[in-house]
Amino acid sequence: MTRASTDPASAPAVPDTDAPAPRRDFIRQIVREDLASGKHAAIRTRFPPEPNGYLHIGHAKAICLDFGIAAEFDGLCNLRFDDTNPAREDPEFVTAIQDDVRWLGYEWASLRHASDYFEVYYLAAEKLVREGHAFVCDLSADEVRAYRGTLTEPGRDSPYRDRTPDENLDLLRRMRAGEFPDGARTLRAKIDMASGNMNLRDPALYRIKHVAHQNTGDRWPIYPMYDFAHALGDAIEGITHSLCTLEFEDHRPLYDWCVDKVDLAGHPELLAPLLERGLPREAGKPRQIEFSRLNINYTVMSKRKLTTLVTEGLVDGWDDPRMYTLQGLRRRGYTPAALRLLVERVGISKQNSVIDFSVLEGCLREDLDAAADRRMAVVAPLKLVLTNLPEGHQEALAFPNHPKDETRGVRQVPFAREVWIERDDFAEVPPKGWKRLVPGGEARLRGAGIVRVDEVVKDASGEVIELRGWLDPESRPGMEGANRKVKGTLHWVSAQHAVPAEVRLYDRLFSVENPDDESHGGTYRDHINPDSVRVVRGYVEPAAADAAPEQSFQFERTGYFVADRYDHRPDAPVFNRSVTLRDTWAARA
Ligand code: ATP
Ligand code: MG
Repeated sequence: MTRASTDPASAPAVPDTDAPAPRRDFIRQIVREDLASGKHAAIRTRFPPEPNGYLHIGHAKAICLDFGIAAEFDGLCNLRFDDTNPAREDPEFVTAIQDDVRWLGYEWASLRHASDYFEVYYLAAEKLVREGHAFVCDLSADEVRAYRGTLTEPGRDSPYRDRTPDENLDLLRRMRAGEFPDGARTLRAKIDMASGNMNLRDPALYRIKHVAHQNTGDRWPIYPMYDFAHALGDAIEGITHSLCTLEFEDHRPLYDWCVDKVDLAGHPELLAPLLERGLPREAGKPRQIEFSRLNINYTVMSKRKLTTLVTEGLVDGWDDPRMYTLQGLRRRGYTPAALRLLVERVGISKQNSVIDFSVLEGCLREDLDAAADRRMAVVAPLKLVLTNLPEGHQEALAFPNHPKDETRGVRQVPFAREVWIERDDFAEVPPKGWKRLVPGGEARLRGAGIVRVDEVVKDASGEVIELRGWLDPESRPGMEGANRKVKGTLHWVSAQHAVPAEVRLYDRLFSVENPDDESHGGTYRDHINPDSVRVVRGYVEPAAADAAPEQSFQFERTGYFVADRYDHRPDAPVFNRSVTLRDTWAARA
């Protein structure tokens, strides 16, 4: 694998919704040619998740590609649940996956399940048997493995390979009738046991499994294998370009074999069962095209590993804001636009690479910099009393919601004699180059005036608990001295008006670049960043507390935050830190 941050050849960094530059990756190039040559009048794609877990950020790449290409070329994209493995699937995932796809901004032309096609698959299997392209094999799983050979040695033909079509048909029908126990027999394609491609060494097409299926109940004691079901599912839906990740490259010859030998397009009678389900019967000849997976350092990106994090209690569920599931990222404050931008930046190629986590964070900053209103919030509060303002003094100061976008309007920020500032913005003994408050020193309270610290109040243990200072009246808004230069500008909230808030400071879930690397001993479980979440009590200005769940803000000088999707209430605000304002990890790596 090469290490790359972004693919410079891919689309422009800044999404220009008015006039997007045409994207030129190799898949779009193929699509363009197929449309120009008239090979296809319209294109059709599909996104085919297995409903055995929540989608993760890697799936976002596949979704943006499958749905994005269909949209760009006026085609259609189906959402198809590849539910051919009954033991592992759960309706909870089916619902969540639909939510995730819609959240990313896409809508499917048609929602399908591979299980919608079980009858068609079975008719196709009988056709293969009748034509001598498949046989029923009685070898056990261990024997099949022993007969398969190795990468350097050819396999051996199964002793059952020469059964007659009639015998095979009888056995297949009895498999279907449930006469045999699990694992007793398989239906295998008759291809080539000497093939250099292991996938072509008489691969299984059907296995016996007496397990109820969430959609078809007890109707089927046999289930089709992935390669067979996937190829035929694509053909049934008239998919023109079947996009998948590189690990399927070696499966493509089998994919093509299934499509060609069954030839659904030439045998519409096999599609008859679709009529009962009210589905169109217009099969085609799909082409599989592979692209490289999205990999990002500091993450794990496999449903199995993400599941383990949940089941072992290493995170608080699938939608823990530290998780790299789409549900987790959403709760963390990632926006669909940021994820689409990521996919665009990473580009589409056949070259495997690992994207630096900072690229993902950069996409979110870029989106929120433009899209999020500014607010003030104090995360680690220290009280500052402005002693020259009268007791009970109150005013409202007008603040622009966005420094670069006047159309976003202004808000009123209450200001009074006592304010909260960040504890970190005061130092009794400042380090070199310090620009913020020190005893006797000055700094600007953003939009309110310049304050000087006159008194530092400490508790018995010597900890600073309050500052008392003087607000220069000549530096107030509209006064002549308002623009007087001081080094530091601080954010603040009025102590009397601010709303106490729970602030969840999230950081990367893993503390190492490659949590999957087991060469140093241990597994990704041992690399959880102990500082990946810290919950503090802070204060937010009233206009932040009023947020709707999932509304994002830039808390000035602090970071981008989102009102928690589930826990936030205006009278009890909860904010999640989505990303800091600057990359704090670059120096560590
Ligand atoms: P996992 O390995 O995490 O279980 P999967 O590939 O088994 O993922 P599927 O539900 O089978 O998950 O995937 C649906 C689609 O998403 C497939 O077309 C797959 O190629 C694609 N996909 C999965 N992971 C990635 C990734 N990291 N980058 C790009 N596409 C991906
Ligand atoms: Mg899979």
